Amino acid sequence: MTIQSFISNNQDLVQLIYFALIITTLWCSEVIFTNSLAGEKFKHTRVNLLFILTALPVQLFMISLVLLVSAWVNQHHWGLINYLPFHENPWVYYISLFILMDLCEYIYHVIMHKFDFLWKFHLVHHSDLKVDVSTTVREHPGETFVRTSFQMLWVFLLGPVAMVLVLRQTVQTFSNIAAHTTLRLPNRINKIVGLIFVTPNIHQVHHHYQLPYTDRNYGDVLSIWDRLFGTYAELEKEDTVFGVDTHMQPSVNTKFINIIKVPFQKLERK
Ligand SMILES: [Zn+2]
Ligand SMILES: [Zn+2]
Repeated sequence: MTIQSFISNNQDLVQLIYFALIITTLWCSEVIFTNSLAGEKFKHTRVNLLFILTALPVQLFMISLVLLVSAWVNQHHWGLINYLPFHENPWVYYISLFILMDLCEYIYHVIMHKFDFLWKFHLVHHSDLKVDVSTTVREHPGETFVRTSFQMLWVFLLGPVAMVLVLRQTVQTFSNIAAHTTLRLPNRINKIVGLIFVTPNIHQVHHHYQLPYTDRNYGDVLSIWDRLFGTYAELEKEDTVFGVDTHMQPSVNTKFINIIKVPFQKLERK
């Protein structure tokens, strides 16, 4: 078996190893560059890592369904991409789908904030009082189910081949983990990179505990949608406080068993 065929036959495993490598590298960089105590940081990380145990089975099962939808739409030449001019050109095909899928992720994220029933699941991600790379995996399994269900819908509407999904996942993994790191970009670099891409400086605003900032910077990989739809905001590091104003108690936020129950409790609106 060649390396290429191993990679294409074991995409789930390859994506997981890739995810683990990036998160570990950035986690160690955070310890080194912010002079954090590794022991203290690990206590916080441990809580977030527990979410992998609950979300991963849901993610793997649902992604296999997303891939089935992708196979079906391609077999039936279904999806908006087939109506795009020049879509036979691979560059047009891959780049257009990447951008359109990013718009779909933006819409999904806005929906998660606007409906109380969905917000209760999504606020688990926002409830982290110390945002770092481990916050990336702090996702309630209920949200994993909703997110991947929406993904099925996007694939059904747009019609991408599986390779588009694999490439997008590869970029998205790096982008999502990097967006949660405590290592902010220098302002001058952020001004340039942040014109197109979501940076830690941009995503940290979204994790500020109070409105309107919680409802700003919804972007997934690209920051262009926030600029386009008027949901872009900036906030200095010193003014940023992580969390959600309705759920600031460390007794809840630092205990896995308490956080996982949050979506099933009565919601005091933020
Ligand atoms: Zn959010
Ligand atoms: Zn986040």
